[in-house]
Amino acid sequence: MVSTYDVIVVGAGPSGSIAAYVATRLGLRVLVLDRFRFPRIKPCGGGLTQKSVALLRSLGIELNGVIRGRCRRVALINSAGSFLITDDEPIVNVVSRDEFDNYLLSNALEAGADYIVDRVVRVDVNNDRVNVIGVNNAYVGKYVIAADGANSIVAKQLGNNLRRDAAMAFMTIARGNYLDDLCVIDMTRIRWGYSWVFPRGGGEYDVGIGSIRWEDYRPLLINYVHDIDMREGEVRGHPIPIRARDRIVSRRIALVGDAAGLADSTTGEGIFYAMYSGALAALALRSSSSPAEFASNYLEIITPLIRNLSLAYYLSLGTYGIDHLVMGRLGLSAFSMPSTRNLIKRIMSGKTWYYQVPMSMIKFSVLRGPQMLLKGILHG
Ligand SMILES: Cc1cc2nc3c(=O)[nH]c(=O)nc-3n(C[C@H](O)[C@H](O)[C@H](O)COP(=O)(O)OP(=O)(O)OC[C@H]3O[C@@H](n4cnc5c(N)ncnc54)[C@H](O)[C@@H]3O)c2cc1C
Repeated sequence: MVSTYDVIVVGAGPSGSIAAYVATRLGLRVLVLDRFRFPRIKPCGGGLTQKSVALLRSLGIELNGVIRGRCRRVALINSAGSFLITDDEPIVNVVSRDEFDNYLLSNALEAGADYIVDRVVRVDVNNDRVNVIGVNNAYVGKYVIAADGANSIVAKQLGNNLRRDAAMAFMTIARGNYLDDLCVIDMTRIRWGYSWVFPRGGGEYDVGIGSIRWEDYRPLLINYVHDIDMREGEVRGHPIPIRARDRIVSRRIALVGDAAGLADSTTGEGIFYAMYSGALAALALRSSSSPAEFASNYLEIITPLIRNLSLAYYLSLGTYGIDHLVMGRLGLSAFSMPSTRNLIKRIMSGKTWYYQVPMSMIKFSVLRGPQMLLKGILHG
């Protein structure tokens, strides 16, 4: 007899594993499918913000064993100069995604989820169930949470255009001598994006470069690694979605994480939004008694997050366009304001949402910008 799961989670990255973990803890029968046997490699900076750590802790998942680097200082470099953000708590915790993702999946499996390695090619929705068709087998469930990443086959099946609104990022694990408690974000190496150096301990650094313009940045990344006196490892690239998909729910299917297009286009942060949306989809499922109710419940609880991230999209145009390319060339930057740096810290930690940012930028450009510009002109 074919066993029917309450929910089949396609993809075991952070969104899928947290969806599976929460759904299982809520008493649902869960199957996780991933095309790879874990641990597997995922190109990523591995930067976890305070809000990611807090979210996991609130779910009863402690990360001590998988955190490789801790940055209490983050240097932001743009054409106006270098600006330091500091905190007593690590602002960025650096993980290796193979270890981190494997750990999250093991938490879901320990909670009771099943896991099968198979590549999903299609999801067929019937009146009373879904058939998830893999290369090796077919699986039957009542619902699907699609957590299959930026190139999501399920998102495509729902009619979304995945190439639209996607950034491209490349990374490598570099070796050398650099600072071990400092994360660097440098906007001067690329237009409409930044390069980063995140320490992983033991002389290893996650070094990468990404932009909201889709191009092959491999040569740029290798030059950067050499400029900072390091040796690159294998270079890997992957898209990062920068806007929510047009359709993120359908009868019996919900998209989460990168599959739903839920990453922050200003910072490139996707892990928090992946885990958060995964948890929300599981909660929506548990509290729904019909496919229509599931769709409307998920849409209702995910909409504030989508609105917040769409503000991040417009802010990225301000940050990489107006602030860096225009104001920065005049020696001005919103980052020079302690209040802006404090705001960035608060956003990264999850204490503030994006809708509070534009006011601070407006305050800067209306009040301080012209003052500083005048000062610059008067003093040559
Ligand atoms: C170079 C780079 C650097 C980044 N740096 C950071 C960072 O420092 N901090 C941060 O927060 N975010 C970062 N991000 C974004 C972050 O990696 C993603 O937002 C995050 O991984 C999304 O998680 P997810 O679970 O939705 O998808 P993924 O992590 O991509 O997981 C999707 C899973 O689905 C599986 N899958 C795919 N297709 C199928 C299929 N057909 N059948 C079965 N399984 C399938 C895959 O094998 C994979 O395991 C970075 C992204 C890139 C590209």
